[in-house]
Amino acid sequence: MKTMLVFVGAVQIGGGAPVRIQSMTKCKTENIKAVIREINGLEKAGCEIIRVAVPNQSVVKNIPIIKTKINIPLVADIHFDHRLAIESIKAGADKIRINPGNIGADYKVREIIEAAKNKNIPIRIGVNAGSISKSILSKYKNPNVKAILESIKQNLKIFEKKDFQNLVLSAKTANPIETVEVYQRLAEIYPYPLHIGVTEAGLPFDGVIRNTAAIAILLNKGIGDTIRVSLTGPSLLEVEAAKEILSSLGKRKSGPTLISCPTCGRCDVNIVKIARQVKKQLENIKLPIKVAVMGCVVNGPGEACSADYGIACGKRSGILFRKGKIVKKSQEENLVSELIALIQEQR
Ligand code: SF4
Repeated sequence: MKTMLVFVGAVQIGGGAPVRIQSMTKCKTENIKAVIREINGLEKAGCEIIRVAVPNQSVVKNIPIIKTKINIPLVADIHFDHRLAIESIKAGADKIRINPGNIGADYKVREIIEAAKNKNIPIRIGVNAGSISKSILSKYKNPNVKAILESIKQNLKIFEKKDFQNLVLSAKTANPIETVEVYQRLAEIYPYPLHIGVTEAGLPFDGVIRNTAAIAILLNKGIGDTIRVSLTGPSLLEVEAAKEILSSLGKRKSGPTLISCPTCGRCDVNIVKIARQVKKQLENIKLPIKVAVMGCVVNGPGEACSADYGIACGKRSGILFRKGKIVKKSQEENLVSELIALIQEQR
């Protein structure tokens, strides 16, 4: 579904632009060196928009310094204190994320809108199940889908009165099914781009699965303009997971795809080790190729015939193949290096 186009710095969100990958830094924003290092690492891994927590005035002062050392747009994440939002906008933030419900009186939200208008930057209204107003909660008893939607509707009134449409919406829950329901309704009702993902999704294994469960359903329906895979874990993992989700759904092409067999009683090599080594080596290759690592020769090239390159293992050895055709045979210890050499030959 085509949403309105919003610019975060030079990066487009919505309006038919590719689904953007974003994350949030995990280190203290006070620690400029650490933040810059984290952001640069994330950018290298494929992150396109980065958000930082802005909990106090001293952090606001860091925004211009951080911006001179990074190449992706910076979003300031603000809660409770509207002055931090206004100061962050003045300091050069490319976008502000607020939850109007915890900013307080309407005039405070109006002041943020004015500041964003003056600098022509977007605001993300990020409502979470955990931060719904008391009046809405008493009506619905718990922060269910209806309560979240009413909260968004209520929050949007101030923006509509100020004729401010430079908006991105998010309404995440920790439940993938509810998250899907909420975003489906948002996509039906509003023209604004949607930032999608599951919040408080948990540790990496659970978190990646919960996020993928919701994000994949939504993206497959054409809903969602930017994603964040929130994890209780390293931000790098968030970006890598987001890239893999988009690539698996055919939404973005990003470097090689590794397919590897689950292994079984036919396998006579350490296929897990080989697959891990190949994955590591592929980090340096940017071509959108499919590479297969298969545990046995019988099924190897046949099952992986759609792969551009591959290994099909035998007894302490294996064959290398290209586009389903055998190129050569190698010993187990040489398989990975010879596969990479074969790929590099073709670059
Ligand atoms: S490719 Fe061979 S080793 Fe791997 S799962 Fe299939 S049959 Fe088993």
